[in-house]
Amino acid sequence: MKILLLHTDYIKFKPLKKALKTIEELSEKEKEGNFVEQALVVLTAVEKGDTDVKKIVEKLIENVKDVAKQVNAEKIVLYPYAHLSSDLASPQLATEILNEAEKGLKKSFNVVKAPFGYYKEFELKVKGHPLSELSRSINVEDGKAEVKEEKYDYTKLLHEISKNRLDNSKLKENDHRIIGQQMDLFSFSEVAPGMVFWHNNGLIIKNGLIELWRELHRKAEYQEISTPQVMDNRLWKISGHWDKYKENIFLTEYEKRQFAVKPMNCPGGMLVFKSTPKSYKELPLRIGELGVVHRLELSGVLAGLFRVIQFTQDDAHIFCEEKQLEEEIFGIIDVINTLYKKFNLEFDHIELSTRPEKRIGEEKMWDKSEKLLEDALKKRKMKYKINKGDGAFYGPKIDFHVKDSLGRTWQLSTIQLDFSMPERFELEYTDKDNTRKRPVMLHTVSYGSIERFVGILLEHTNGRMPTWLAPIQVRILNFTDRNTEYAKKIIKELGNEIPNLRIESDFRQTTVPAKVKDAEILRVPYIIVIGDKEEKDKKLAVRVRGNSKIETIGIKEFVEKIKKEISERK
Ligand SMILES: [Zn+2]
Repeated sequence: MKILLLHTDYIKFKPLKKALKTIEELSEKEKEGNFVEQALVVLTAVEKGDTDVKKIVEKLIENVKDVAKQVNAEKIVLYPYAHLSSDLASPQLATEILNEAEKGLKKSFNVVKAPFGYYKEFELKVKGHPLSELSRSINVEDGKAEVKEEKYDYTKLLHEISKNRLDNSKLKENDHRIIGQQMDLFSFSEVAPGMVFWHNNGLIIKNGLIELWRELHRKAEYQEISTPQVMDNRLWKISGHWDKYKENIFLTEYEKRQFAVKPMNCPGGMLVFKSTPKSYKELPLRIGELGVVHRLELSGVLAGLFRVIQFTQDDAHIFCEEKQLEEEIFGIIDVINTLYKKFNLEFDHIELSTRPEKRIGEEKMWDKSEKLLEDALKKRKMKYKINKGDGAFYGPKIDFHVKDSLGRTWQLSTIQLDFSMPERFELEYTDKDNTRKRPVMLHTVSYGSIERFVGILLEHTNGRMPTWLAPIQVRILNFTDRNTEYAKKIIKELGNEIPNLRIESDFRQTTVPAKVKDAEILRVPYIIVIGDKEEKDKKLAVRVRGNSKIETIGIKEFVEKIKKEISERK
């Protein structure tokens, strides 16, 4: 049985005509309909499985009583409403249940029952509070209520989920998990293995990377979309992920349909492409999505931000004509190049992965597309090696590997040619000559997983983010309490000059070296110490990160320097 409980100012209804042939005639009074004020309206749909009348009625009354008590309702309107379910019970069963429910509820409430089996017109005004609309599903299985009241001890549960503390002893000093703790960037919890709890400081870094991604992709004429997190499993069967990938997909259920938590963004993107007819004039069509994806991994292989279950993938798809492919690949390489340069990450090598044993598509198509990718790399004079047989089942790909400051290499970006998805989703556009054609498609990511990229960046820089990305950009320390007022004035002035400047103060009653040390652990790029001398000279004593010497500079000069660093993302 499905019910929808509405706490209303009023409901007005009137039967119009019979919806079922076998239904009884109404009395004159019933035909007039009704008007009830301050009622808890219970829309009901009795379903096929509701054969245990006694139990179902009991559960229904229990639910109604529960809500009525919470919203303080004294009047109940039982209102048969077939639209709540597609699995309706026979009229006999429904009538019996509703009659029994009416009888039971009358013991505690003033009850009005709208006629069953009639088309009715109705008008109601629902109150605005959070409990005014509640939907419930009431089921009875094997004579037992499906949802049993569970007994648990929440303090014990809290203890259970709080066990998981980071064990620093096994990590190297430069590990991003340690840096993350020192800088208060993120944490993990037992309740969500492999999923990041971003703290304010960490989210600043993540959002900064996203802003840069958006800027670069807007310049390169990409659109941005966002698609649902949970989608019907049929979609993943169409895309082919179900066959190849089902062990890594989180599943859930809704109204007896199986749903998957998206492990990839591509299928959602295909549906956006298909939502309107496309013309050759719109191609190449570049669509990006910063989609949050979930992939099942064994908890034993999870490792900080490097290996997670939930992550943000900076995905992009390019739909184009075959002759446009090369230009598009160059475009992607340009975006990737700009991005790596921003972080002083160097290209280490590029791998071109070719047709695997298990594949779809004709040989001719593989010949052509492998050559196409290789020619693009040659034309751009990029060093690459061939990874024979390592391509995706739907097409060849190029992977970009970069080297970090510790000499390690990471695969970040990829470009993949895909024959399969346009075919499976029957993507089409209208060509110049008015014929329908199938576009070709590229998948690409720049960061890959933003979570992982933050981890790499933290180790690559030892937490010393460039000023534009640093969670705290400036920290002001007072020498003694005497200087606090002036220091506050400086904070205000810098804030006025540089909007969105992330500036903080440390006016604790402790020594300057101790305050400097704390700011250093937070990797603040600029520490400013305000003492009597600075106050008198109207200058700033600035300690630049990584440099033990203190520079004395004018306020204006300092403002210009930081402004430039932030705006140019230096
Ligand atoms: Zn994709």
